[in-house]
Amino acid sequence: MYLKSILSSLILLCFIGSLNAQADRWQQKVKYKMKIDFDVRNHQFTGEQELRYWNNSPDTLDRVFYHLYFNAFQPNSMMDVRSRNIPDPDNRVRDRISKLTPGERGYHKITSLEQDGKAVHFEVVGTILEVDLLKPILPGKSTTLKMEFNSQVPVQVRRSGRDNREGIDYSMSQWYPKLCEYDYQGWHANPYIAREFYGVWGDFEVEINIDGRYTVAAGGVLKNADKIGRGYSDKTARISDKKVRWKWEAKNVHDFLWAADRDYVVESKLMKGGPMVYFVYQPGEKTTENWKNLPEAMDKALSFMNKRYGTYPYSVYSFIQGGDGGMEYPMATLITGERSYSSLVGVSIHEWMHSWYQMVLGTNESLYAWMDEGFTSFATSEVMNYLRIQKLIPGTPVDNPQLGSVNGLIRFHKSGRSEPLSIHSDHFMTNSGYGVGAYTKGQVLLEQLKYIMGEEDFYRALLRYYDTWKFKHPNANDFFRIMEKESGLELDWFKEYFVNTTHYPDYTIENVEGLENGTTKIDLVKNGVMPMPLDIVITYNDDTKTLANIPLRIMRGHKPANKDNVHFILAEDWPWTHPEYSLILEFPIEDIKTIEIDPSGSMIDLNRSDNVWSGENP
Ligand SMILES: [Zn+2]
Repeated sequence: MYLKSILSSLILLCFIGSLNAQADRWQQKVKYKMKIDFDVRNHQFTGEQELRYWNNSPDTLDRVFYHLYFNAFQPNSMMDVRSRNIPDPDNRVRDRISKLTPGERGYHKITSLEQDGKAVHFEVVGTILEVDLLKPILPGKSTTLKMEFNSQVPVQVRRSGRDNREGIDYSMSQWYPKLCEYDYQGWHANPYIAREFYGVWGDFEVEINIDGRYTVAAGGVLKNADKIGRGYSDKTARISDKKVRWKWEAKNVHDFLWAADRDYVVESKLMKGGPMVYFVYQPGEKTTENWKNLPEAMDKALSFMNKRYGTYPYSVYSFIQGGDGGMEYPMATLITGERSYSSLVGVSIHEWMHSWYQMVLGTNESLYAWMDEGFTSFATSEVMNYLRIQKLIPGTPVDNPQLGSVNGLIRFHKSGRSEPLSIHSDHFMTNSGYGVGAYTKGQVLLEQLKYIMGEEDFYRALLRYYDTWKFKHPNANDFFRIMEKESGLELDWFKEYFVNTTHYPDYTIENVEGLENGTTKIDLVKNGVMPMPLDIVITYNDDTKTLANIPLRIMRGHKPANKDNVHFILAEDWPWTHPEYSLILEFPIEDIKTIEIDPSGSMIDLNRSDNVWSGENP
């Protein structure tokens, strides 16, 4: 009954979402039906995949491409060679792939492939399957591709695989031949090198036939829970070594994940606002207590997340112990589970927040990693701070949980390793350049927008972004257009500087001087290449304050006056071409104690030491 009402409101939401989307943005659609027969003795499985593919593009397609992710786990694969040549390899990968023995490697072997009942020509090229279609798919038409394949699950090196370091038997992510996305930018047949996740929206029906001693978890709804039991229904199923068929379904997603282990327990909690959330872990000294405390914190967190970032739209979510850290998938995450409570909550919140930024707002991670990792990091900091306020995790809450990242980004930039965010995720020169760019700079990007637009407009815009682009593929421009519409400001200059370059702002209070008519002149200098609007806070001897906001002329507007009872002055706009600017205050210099550029610390000013005047000129 309850589930039904969630589902019908979900359908309504999808419908409204599609009305809101840009009329010229089409997207492809898939429906996968897969049957997997798993052999736990040799870690191999055979698969049958029936894929219906709708070509909603205006183009005729005569080829299609699939990802074959497991092929990355073979010596001399692009992932292996890249890892052995990048200056700062991921510790989990390093040269490990080059040393895998035949039984430890991963592979997908395609044994047959038919289009609408007739065999087609295909070629496996590393982690990509190239298919020449027999019949081109015309605009607005669909085709059915039937594939048979057999695969071997690699020893876990990165994300997926068998026998992770905590002893989880199978972490099955990026585990099946997955159609590459075709969008307005063409095919995205990216080889799997480190971080390529972008998929076609659609539905999955997956049957997994596996040794009955294993409990399966997945990102979806278990359709035969009554037969299975084990925490998915009230029934206690008998555990046998005969095979058990698990039937999963996931709708309106762009990937499907599962995991299996002999020791898993499945606990669940119906969260306020709808979803049934599963906690699937291996009980033990390092897990049980923390995992039993997790549901309560996640329930509180979800209320905050729904309100601030938009309502979680699916009927289930699963936190599954597995993987090699934390990795997000639709309706589920794989996280390592032997952690301190704070760390377990932290990784859980981060991965769950990806349900908003990547799973529902399905950005192309290769091109806009900052839109999923960065936005997720921004939200994670806020949710963790909220949980500290609620005393659900230890630690002192702070006024602004983003400042650590602002300062961290300045430090990283000064080390000389910054690269522009516009680089494709796999093509950064270093892993740290990618990591700080995608996570930290993406997070700081939102903090800058909050500073430029003002908090109220910013948070309203975040919700509008979610409502407008959920279940679609928003790009950077789509995001900034929403920010512009909601604030009434032109923000393209900010996007150009912050995404496409590594320039930052750096402002200075150069001189402050009392004029004969009893006013005060503040001379400001723009040293950095990137311009920003300025908040100048003047504190008087009686500790009252004035906030002077100097907008940039190219914004064609300014943020609203703040409502904190601070005296507000809207100053004349600053043309970015001008290195100098003078602000005249209607107060004598003798009344002024200090003047400071952005005392909030939100604006990423590279050198803050010259942002304060306290009675003496340099
Ligand atoms: Zn992440």
